[in-house]
Amino acid sequence: MKFSRPDTLFILGRMRNKLFLGLMLLAFISATGQPKKSVFMITDAEGVAGICRQDQTDPKDPELRQLLTGEINAAVEGFLAGGADEVVVWDAHDGSQTLSALTIHPKAKLLIGELGVTMTMERQYVGLAFVGQHSLAGVRAGIMAHSYSSLGIQNMRMNGKPVGEIATRAALAGWYNTPVILLTGDEAAARELLEIVPDAEVAAVKEGLGRYTCISMSAPAARELIRERAQRAMQKIGKIKPYKIDGPVTIEYEYTTRNSLPIDANQRTGAEVVNDRTIRYRGKDFMEAWIRSQVR
Ligand SMILES: [Zn+2]
Repeated sequence: MKFSRPDTLFILGRMRNKLFLGLMLLAFISATGQPKKSVFMITDAEGVAGICRQDQTDPKDPELRQLLTGEINAAVEGFLAGGADEVVVWDAHDGSQTLSALTIHPKAKLLIGELGVTMTMERQYVGLAFVGQHSLAGVRAGIMAHSYSSLGIQNMRMNGKPVGEIATRAALAGWYNTPVILLTGDEAAARELLEIVPDAEVAAVKEGLGRYTCISMSAPAARELIRERAQRAMQKIGKIKPYKIDGPVTIEYEYTTRNSLPIDANQRTGAEVVNDRTIRYRGKDFMEAWIRSQVR
């Protein structure tokens, strides 16, 4: 084909515009640090289908490992089908000793070990997912409900409201503009997330009748539900709002009778001893309060 000179110039001009747009997009991607759609997954034991007794949550229990891995892999499959490029799975239950690279989804990445205060959220994931999650301490019929430590912490409060792993980690992710997109667990945990992130996807795989009594879905049915919800969650990226706590924040720990205040409670930065079992950390914003509250 032969172009007259003005046509050629026009086409070259358009090509240059496209090139320019392409370069702008690349610059945007590197500036925002989001070259790929990466999902971060927090795994736990108490919210897995088929797990209702405390003895089943032993991280070395072979059945727990199989049941949890099956749910994780179903979620990974759903995320990948929904357009995720990467899923980072954190083995977050009891000392990071439940999952194995041998059985995790071949396309997932396994994160083993303890994490610092940011939980790697500065990596700018497109979404946060909870798999096998339980509800916060004290919830009636919440299966093995607790807030971080059932032996050590009676209650935890953020700005005076009882919270557990779901709300505090959602707020941490929200600080980095990452929304919680999926939660799998018992009905109580699903309700807890929907209260703060109403647009998130949830897969409630069992109903609690009491702390150690539940009616659970079968493993295959739970996996099918989780896969479907994970795919749907991925397709809702951009429509689910990050959970953000504005203004000054207080984070409070009320310890159990088996535990006690830290010895240096009175000397801690931004901390106030509320009573013999309770300490309250204050910050000008969520992150300051969170960092102060994480001192061990
Ligand atoms: Zn937990």
